[in-house]
Amino acid sequence: MSTRAEIGATVRSETEIEDSCIIRTNWGAVDTRSHGDRWFHTGLGGNRRSCCIFDLVQRRSEEIEALLTLYSDQVVVLRSWKLGESDRIVSMYGAQNGKIRAVAKGARKTKSKFGGRIEPISFLNVQIWKGNSELHILNQADSIELFPSTKGDFEKLRKALAIVEVVDELVGESDGDFDIFRLLVRVLGQLEKDDSPFILGAFLWRLLQIQGVAPDLSLCMECGSTEGINYLSPDGSGILCEVHRGGRFIDDEVRHLIEMALGGEVSRLLIFDDLVARVRFEEVAIELVENLIAHRVKALHIDSQY
Ligand SMILES: [Zn+2]
Repeated sequence: MSTRAEIGATVRSETEIEDSCIIRTNWGAVDTRSHGDRWFHTGLGGNRRSCCIFDLVQRRSEEIEALLTLYSDQVVVLRSWKLGESDRIVSMYGAQNGKIRAVAKGARKTKSKFGGRIEPISFLNVQIWKGNSELHILNQADSIELFPSTKGDFEKLRKALAIVEVVDELVGESDGDFDIFRLLVRVLGQLEKDDSPFILGAFLWRLLQIQGVAPDLSLCMECGSTEGINYLSPDGSGILCEVHRGGRFIDDEVRHLIEMALGGEVSRLLIFDDLVARVRFEEVAIELVENLIAHRVKALHIDSQY
């Protein structure tokens, strides 16, 4: 639905506005931007509030751009989804800016300057116009690595999509953390070279650790015992002994694998060849992540959807 931007008008979130203008509202200044032959109101992206326009300044697009800041970053694309008739919104994790969302204008047009580069898992150099709203504007995107081997292999792609989906779901937009960016780039690079059976589990455990939600496996969280500590507490925050048992049983082998992942001994993990322990090591991590995001990791259940 389109709205004419007029002083006194009430606009709702993600409303399309017919004019190119700067508007000042009851909760701050926002801008509207060219959106093909229409104007898309970017300033309210992500907000579920309505606002009242009390100041309206007609602007040319160059003047609007002058009010925004152009910055460069290296990013991994986490997710993208359709916006309007020809655009996409792209969720990315940047080396400097952490998780960020931006509109890629005209991205779904045949001759788009973005080509097919802004798909999930792509590693890109980007330029982004950043304004004072939550939704920014993707100005340019150049490939650093598009992971062709991963994209051409269903099993690898399923894991890679699970990795970016979990980052998108678990990490907040204000949590810019270079460790997460580095972990993402490393794990996608590793997967591109070689699909190790431990790669997804190792990534998930390390991400939980960076986010500060990995369990302490060194002693029973109830009594401090270090004997028979084989029960992961129901909320996944720690380990329990035989006396205080509850939650999920994890045998010594799996506990040892998790300790290796959390201790940064990933190279030792990657050569470990106990299939049963490997599956459980990954399953427990997925279970913890799914508890935290309160739903299933979609990419891991693609098989069951068809
Ligand atoms: Zn205990």
